Amino acid sequence: MTDWWRRLLGWRDARILRRRRIPDDLWHLTLARFPFLAARSETDLTRLRELATLFLADKEFSGAKGLQVSDEMAVAIAAQACLPVLRLGLHWYDGFKGIVVHADAVVARREFTDDAGVVHHFDEELSGEAMDGGPVMLSWRDVAQAGDSAEWAYNVVIHEFAHVLDLRDGAGNGVPALPDRATRERWQQALGKEYESFRAEVDAGIDTLLDPYGAEALEEFFAVASEAFFVAPSDLASQNTRLYELLALFFGQDPALHPTQE
Ligand SMILES: [Zn+2]
Repeated sequence: MTDWWRRLLGWRDARILRRRRIPDDLWHLTLARFPFLAARSETDLTRLRELATLFLADKEFSGAKGLQVSDEMAVAIAAQACLPVLRLGLHWYDGFKGIVVHADAVVARREFTDDAGVVHHFDEELSGEAMDGGPVMLSWRDVAQAGDSAEWAYNVVIHEFAHVLDLRDGAGNGVPALPDRATRERWQQALGKEYESFRAEVDAGIDTLLDPYGAEALEEFFAVASEAFFVAPSDLASQNTRLYELLALFFGQDPALHPTQE
């Protein structure tokens, strides 16, 4: 642990880290299940374990329909959720408390009114959902498969927590709470450009690394691009260097090129 990091934590966090540190066996089990975590440097993993410990102390987990959220489940979620904020800091998640875990995907009844005023009903299957102020909803089945699904750049926890980062300024629009307006505009332009070429690829039926769902809206593009950035970083870096570098700049991480460098 570096000195500056120790100073940042403060006495309260230091106390939590001393008393409620994630036990070794649980931590090693989590790394074994999710190889994209285990691939990170020792320094990253030490920090990730600390952030996950503080995250567990701060957030409230509940199981839907009688599901018991075990320590193993909570640690699996916390470790993945803290990866995007490894450099940004845990305060990016201050805006919500609750995490609701469902055993499986949830079918949500949706409705929309068309131009003619006719109300249409449809079912949507959700493996996760994030909203302003929380809670974050996750399907455990999808969370548990994250080790395997990294192969196709899919990760429900990172997807939903990318939305949380995006929503921090109150607007889920693919533009996270960057320090000033000029930076936000530059971000929107740069990500918007990648989004447009991604949409063109999806329209042309090209098999993309990113989930085609990202073509729905800029905020979904940000979320699916974040999934690829963290669970398939080398693939993203080689297939779309500009997008990779844009995300590396925001997250302050370079998981593909210098996985062991501080
Ligand atoms: Zn989404």
